[in-house]
Amino acid sequence: MSFLSGHSVAVMGLGKSGMSAAKALTASGAEVWAWDDNEERRRAAADEGVPLIDLHRCDWAGLRTLVLSPGIAHTHPKPHPVVERARAAGAEIISDIELLARAQRDTSYIGVTGTNGKSTTVALIGHILGSAGRAVAVGGNFGPPALALEPLGRNGTYVLELSSYQLELVDSIAFDVSVLLNISPDHLDRHGGMEGYAAAKRRIFARQRARATAVIGVDDDYCRAIHAELEAAGDRRPIPVSGNRRVPGGVYVVGGVLHDHTEAKAAKAADISGVASLPGVHNWQNAAAAYATARAVGVGPAQVAACLPSFPGLAHRQELVAVIDGVACVNDSKATNAGAASRALACYSVIYWIAGGRPKEGGISSLEPYFSRVAHAFLIGEATDAFADALDGKVAYTKAGDLATAVRQAHAIAVAEKRPGAVVVLSPACASFDQFEDFEARGEAFRALVEALPGKRQAHTIAAAGTPAP
Ligand code: ADP
Repeated sequence: MSFLSGHSVAVMGLGKSGMSAAKALTASGAEVWAWDDNEERRRAAADEGVPLIDLHRCDWAGLRTLVLSPGIAHTHPKPHPVVERARAAGAEIISDIELLARAQRDTSYIGVTGTNGKSTTVALIGHILGSAGRAVAVGGNFGPPALALEPLGRNGTYVLELSSYQLELVDSIAFDVSVLLNISPDHLDRHGGMEGYAAAKRRIFARQRARATAVIGVDDDYCRAIHAELEAAGDRRPIPVSGNRRVPGGVYVVGGVLHDHTEAKAAKAADISGVASLPGVHNWQNAAAAYATARAVGVGPAQVAACLPSFPGLAHRQELVAVIDGVACVNDSKATNAGAASRALACYSVIYWIAGGRPKEGGISSLEPYFSRVAHAFLIGEATDAFADALDGKVAYTKAGDLATAVRQAHAIAVAEKRPGAVVVLSPACASFDQFEDFEARGEAFRALVEALPGKRQAHTIAAAGTPAP
């Protein structure tokens, strides 16, 4: 970022992305003024040589740019005080992704957003492009932050996951392919309601050049409306995608078979019903989007289809850890709310369900339609009593207390009951913070506990991963 050499740049928020921004800016010869309201974060930054200046109190006269962490509010519910100071001083407010775009102007950009499935989709696009021999780097909101990615230059492609917050702080990036997977209510306080949230997501298509590809999941009303708008505008190439129904002119999966109808005639592209890393209709939506994206950047249809079965999948998202004594053990620790847990529960029909942690508003009452698939629930953490009340009289449950006990009990009972297609699933529908540092630590603990279980290991196949539910 030599264009910032000699300039003073403020960096607010010293998490993963802020830290990498501060370091990259310093390496580019900029004078960094970094701050975080959290004292521990400041100490960690100082230990790594990041220069700290209290951005609440400093003189903003010489600062033209504020690099803001996506976790910090800049509009709703109200702007952070440092944001207000930056605005008053006339400084621009941008994200680390915007800096990457300014630094790597000749590189191709694929942007992925949506309420759910972003990480899976960027990882899958990265897998396909990498397997096809392209120079590709995946990051942003998932994986390495933007400024920790290698400079790729003219022939490379960045595949970036963007949250709605990041999209609001990106000004100059024109995505060669933009992907919007789905929109459902989330983070509404930060966007001043549903309209603001949908508008932020829609920004992924802003500034795209004429005829650039816009891949849009059309399985919800908000995205269907955005697709219709882009169709009507006629200046881009919108490709509708679906995980569960035919969409003329698009890419879609029906019954596990991926179809490509972007040419005159619909063609079967691949059968992904047996791909263990992409279980469920929600993942079929992700696969359809990744397929459409890879095709848009010129990877051949057979080549894309050939790459899908080797996708390793992501940790903590319906990750098949092991099959022991005929019982599959699945780590879905990322399911921190009922909506996410419903995706896993929808995939299996004989479930030994480990749930609980720090409960979210609404609890698990919305999961009642799936209760008939739960053979037995094992409850852990602060949610134990509330979840027990919700299950009482409907599902057999045990108050296991902690994860170690739950894993042991769930596996032992599943083996003893000998029901075909039995799956032990950690899909907590809760935050982890009562017992773990984060969802990743919870998933790692689950994996270690499963690996320590006694019994005979079997191959990881989708058949072994439990009977898919009807
Ligand atoms: P994100 O990065 O958007 O949080 P992930 O790929 O990490 O998404 O998936 C997180 C969880 O969201 C998954 O465990 C699954 O429960 C759910 N999910 C994944 N893809 C989709 C989708 N296309 N639609 C709805 N839910 C999904």
